[in-house]
Amino acid sequence: YKERYRLLGTKCETCNNVFFPLRGVCPNCRRGGKPVPIAFSGKGRVYTFTVIHVPPEGFETFVPYVVGLVQLEEGPKVTSQIVDCHPEDAYIGMPVEACFRKLRAQGKEGIICYGFKFRPVDSSSKKE
Ligand code: ZN
Repeated sequence: YKERYRLLGTKCETCNNVFFPLRGVCPNCRRGGKPVPIAFSGKGRVYTFTVIHVPPEGFETFVPYVVGLVQLEEGPKVTSQIVDCHPEDAYIGMPVEACFRKLRAQGKEGIICYGFKFRPVDSSSKKE
């Protein structure tokens, strides 16, 4: 499991709160905080979601797609595209897990950005 494929966040050792993403400052404690990096399990549940039919530039090949607010097992909420999921199959409370995918292709240079997305846990046995 390579470092760049881990979902990293921050745990504050002063107040014990967990945040996403990785931060240098605890939003609760400010200067009194002791933020340390932690790796999330990548598992969570869909808290809310919307279906995108009109995409921003660079996302045209994905429509329609699901964007969810995922609540991680550890507590923080993360906004992400939900892949491998038909819009009509998405529901609140759906178990999901982080996976690493192409985020978008940018401009004429075709710079491709990779990052994490979430997918339903039920589809995790499918071949990539
Ligand atoms: Zn704190």
